[in-house]
Amino acid sequence: MPALDAVLQEKSEALREQNRLRVAEVRADDDLISFTSNDYLGLAQHPEVIAASVQAAEAYGAGASASRVLTGTHPPYPALENALAEHKGTQAACVFGSGYLANIGTIPALVGREDLIIADKLVHACIVDAMRLSGAKCYRFKHNDAADCARLLKTYRQQYRHCLVITETVFSMDGDVASLQELQTSCKEHDAWLMTDDAHGIQTCENPADIQMGTLSKAFASYGGYVCGSKTLIQHLHNTARSFLFSTGLPPAVVAAATKAVEIARAEPERAENALAHAQKFTDALALPRAQSPIVPLIMGEEAAALVAAEALQARGFLVMAIRPPTVPEGSSRLRFVFTAAHEQAQVDGLIKAVKEICDARISA
Ligand SMILES: *Cc1c(COP(=O)(O)O)cnc(C)c1O
Repeated sequence: MPALDAVLQEKSEALREQNRLRVAEVRADDDLISFTSNDYLGLAQHPEVIAASVQAAEAYGAGASASRVLTGTHPPYPALENALAEHKGTQAACVFGSGYLANIGTIPALVGREDLIIADKLVHACIVDAMRLSGAKCYRFKHNDAADCARLLKTYRQQYRHCLVITETVFSMDGDVASLQELQTSCKEHDAWLMTDDAHGIQTCENPADIQMGTLSKAFASYGGYVCGSKTLIQHLHNTARSFLFSTGLPPAVVAAATKAVEIARAEPERAENALAHAQKFTDALALPRAQSPIVPLIMGEEAAALVAAEALQARGFLVMAIRPPTVPEGSSRLRFVFTAAHEQAQVDGLIKAVKEICDARISA
């Protein structure tokens, strides 16, 4: 075996032994009902979204062929950025190649070596990478604990030039919702800027953050990431966010699909309401804390326990993912249920029954 592969194979084997090896394989199985998709509003298969995508490809071609600041800003772009700014109630928006690229470009464009970042303990991996890349001093506050954030601000803020506080609005693996008003109050008091990652948001909430990042790849059914904020912020990102400047624009089809999805999401608020209602029906039936979003975790502990539970649900006709470290902290491997506007009531009822069965089997085992 070549030297490189021998080294890498050993690393993969170590992951396999820990029940942590992942595989990127086609999991679409028409016989299984999926409770694992981030297509929260059920728009990825929407005929109008698909049609918008096809029309844009026909009108403008398959690719953008250059960076946004050269010739990559094709006509579908302004429509999307205007729709996003309107949706969020901000002056302007900037679309990036993905949510990952949005965070990794924006955070280092705002803070550097003389600055401070204070972030929730459970923020997404791409925020962690962006924090490191920025070179700023970083502290993490206890998950969803605005008082702990205030304590860190009080202790450390004065030693640094600028300060950025970062949280998700809806947490990706826990489904709980941040207390944005409390965080904003502390930020105002300590002269800090608030940035939110709304990748898992499905409704516009009262959001006081200066920098509102999100993705087009989940509720908006397409691909890409965005930042909404003041015109001044967006102009600064156009000139300094390296993942914006030095990466090719998104294909026209992708941009047009996202615009159509934003339009439908705004016109049909019942989609978001239905997704949340399904999740709450599920948590009420299982006596879990009431769902605050379409994401519901069921903590199993060890990796193997989560894998076994996922298999048991699969045997009952439901596709649910076991989420393991490093995506979630050690010892908190879990099933992550995602409810969407596309689910039918009977499917949710069937899932509730199946989860009760596997929980009973676990208790009696
Ligand atoms: C998925 C996700 C991202 C990355 O978005 P992509 O568009 O998939 O790159 C960023 N932040 C959070 C919280 C996410 O869940």
